[in-house]
Amino acid sequence: MQSPPPSSRYPLTIVIPVYNEEQVLPALFQELEKIRALLAKSVDAVEIVLVNDGSKDKSWQLIADFCRRRPDWVGVNLSRNFGHQLCLVAGLETARGDAVVSMDADLQDPPEVILQLLEAYRQGYDVVYATRRERGTETFTKRFTAQVFYFLIEKLSGVPIPRNTGDFRLLSRRALTELSRLRETHRFLRGLVPWIGFPQTQVFYDRGERAAGETHYPFRKMVRFAFDGIASMSAMPLRLAYVFSLLLFSVFVVYIFYVVYSHFIRGSELVPGWTSIMSAITIFGTIQLLLFGVFGEYLGRIYEQSKNRPLFIIQEIVQAGAETESAAPKI
Ligand code: UDP
Ligand code: MG
Repeated sequence: MQSPPPSSRYPLTIVIPVYNEEQVLPALFQELEKIRALLAKSVDAVEIVLVNDGSKDKSWQLIADFCRRRPDWVGVNLSRNFGHQLCLVAGLETARGDAVVSMDADLQDPPEVILQLLEAYRQGYDVVYATRRERGTETFTKRFTAQVFYFLIEKLSGVPIPRNTGDFRLLSRRALTELSRLRETHRFLRGLVPWIGFPQTQVFYDRGERAAGETHYPFRKMVRFAFDGIASMSAMPLRLAYVFSLLLFSVFVVYIFYVVYSHFIRGSELVPGWTSIMSAITIFGTIQLLLFGVFGEYLGRIYEQSKNRPLFIIQEIVQAGAETESAAPKI
C-alpha cells in the first residue's frame, strides 16, 4: 500500500496528448476555456496539461505560447515522438489533480462530457469511461475489426474491456497511483485500466468527426496497436503451438487410419506420396515459421522491458511563472 498523496490544489486535471494538431489547437483552447468556465461552478480550479508528442508542425509553439500566459495551464514537451499511449502516460504523471480526465486533442471527444464523468466520480467511482453511443460515422471495416479485436483481447486476457471506449476517461487519484505502478514498456492503457479494478462505470456520448487535420491511426498503425494490445494483455499466442499440434495430430491420426486401411484392406498401394510429403513439409514449415514469429515478438518484449528504459523523456515544461527545461548543452 502506498500512502495517500498530499491533497492537491487542483480537484481536476484534464490531460491531452497532442501530435501535429496545429490546425485544431486554437479551437481546442477555446473549447477548454469554455468548459473551464462551466466547471467553475462546481470545481475550484481545473488544471490543463497539454503534452506535445514531438509534433513536426507548430503545435508546440502554440501550446508554449498559450500556457506561458495562463495560470493552471501546463505545456509538456516530450523530447521526440513517443506515441499516443506513452504521451498520455507522460500527461497522467504530470497531472496534479485529485481526479484526472484524459481526452484527445481533435475535439472528437466533446469536452461537455467531462461534466458527466465528474458526476459519476462524485458518486464514488474511481474509473469512469466515456463510451461512444454509436460508431455510425465510421467505416464498416473499422467497426468490424474493432469488434473482432475486442472479442479476442477479452477472451485471451480474461479482463473485461468496455466496448467503444477510447482513451477518454476519468481516473481518481488512487486509480492513477496504482496505474503508474505498472511500468511496462508496451502498454495498452485500455486493457490496463480495467485490470487495476476499483469501482468502474461508463457514461455515454456521441462521438463526432475530427475538428480538423487527419487521423494518426492509419490501418498499419491500427494493426500494430491491436497486436500490442493482445500481446501486452495475454500470453495466449505463445500457446498456439499446443493448439496447432493438437489440431495437426488429429488430422494425421485420421490420415494414418486411411493409409493403413488402403494398404491392408483395399490392398491398393498409395501413389508414391509426393502430395502428402509436400503438404506435410509445407504445413510444418509454415507453422514453425509462424510460431517463431510469435516467440520473437514476445522475446522482443522481454528484451525491451529488460533494458528498463524510461517510458518517455520530457524536454521542457512550460507554465505561467515557472519554466523548466531539462539540461540541454549550452555553449
Ligand atoms: N497522438 C499522439 N501521438 C501520436 C499519435 C497521436 O499524441 O503519435 C494524439 C493525437 O494528437 C490525438 C490522439 O493522440 O490527440 C488520438 O489520435 P487520433 O485522433 O489521430 O486517433 P483517432 O481518433 O483517429 O483514433
Ligand atoms: Mg481522433
